[in-house]
Amino acid sequence: MRRIGAHVSTAGGVVNALTRTTEIGGNCLQIFAGSPRSWARRLYEEKEISSFLNESAKLDYSPTFIHALYLVNLASDNPDLVKKSVDSLITDLKNGQVIASAGVIVHLGSHQGRGFVSVVDQVAGVIRQILNATEETPFIIENSAGQQGKIGSLTEIGELFAKVNHPRLKLCLDSAHLFEAGYDLRNLSALDTLVNELTDQGLFNQIVCLHLNDSKTEFNSRNDQHENLGDGKIGLLGLSQLVNHEDLVDLPIILEVPGDSGFPDAKQIAIAKSL
Ligand SMILES: [Zn+2]
Ligand SMILES: [Zn+2]
Repeated sequence: MRRIGAHVSTAGGVVNALTRTTEIGGNCLQIFAGSPRSWARRLYEEKEISSFLNESAKLDYSPTFIHALYLVNLASDNPDLVKKSVDSLITDLKNGQVIASAGVIVHLGSHQGRGFVSVVDQVAGVIRQILNATEETPFIIENSAGQQGKIGSLTEIGELFAKVNHPRLKLCLDSAHLFEAGYDLRNLSALDTLVNELTDQGLFNQIVCLHLNDSKTEFNSRNDQHENLGDGKIGLLGLSQLVNHEDLVDLPIILEVPGDSGFPDAKQIAIAKSL
């Protein structure tokens, strides 16, 4: 059975993310390992680790992805911000290891107008530093929507993979970001172009997760706004073509849609399952 789940809250403790996954009908999940908007990070304690591991094994919920916090910018020219980013990611990866997470999904950040070429060595070096400071959990780069300054086009990610060259470096594709960055998922030949490009960049075998979101903004908008499945500009047919593409059909699916009240709900998971 395909793995389909959503980003769920850990309010009250990480084990509660599993209860929320049950409530919405998922069998895999994504969480924040701490507040998404604050640098403060702590390592999970023994008790919360064992209850999460026991409960997730009993329910057979996997994989569990951790989403890095939104403040991370590995391309900043402010050394203090880069250090905070590195420290938070190392803690996220260590927490990922103890809860047997399939990886920490990261938005790399912005070059702030300086250009990718001027920051690529810094970003690659910092990723290698984070991987060297941790043991098991994959570092998963997410593609961007192509916003001004934001790093994360497939070409840029391909270059980073080549430079970092590490077995724990992986890729997450977000359907809304792809569409907003100029991949028209409504069109089957555009999907083949996407798969060819991933193959050419050496990225195809590194994909470990699909973020499944519809897009509130138009094709190629370079503006990232998630919409509920079927209510956005991609539509159910395009989303269905993506998740059922013969080369992508085994990937776990994580929803990050607004639902009816701000977070992915049972209705959205049911739609994802029906695609
Ligand atoms: Zn995403
Ligand atoms: Zn997004």
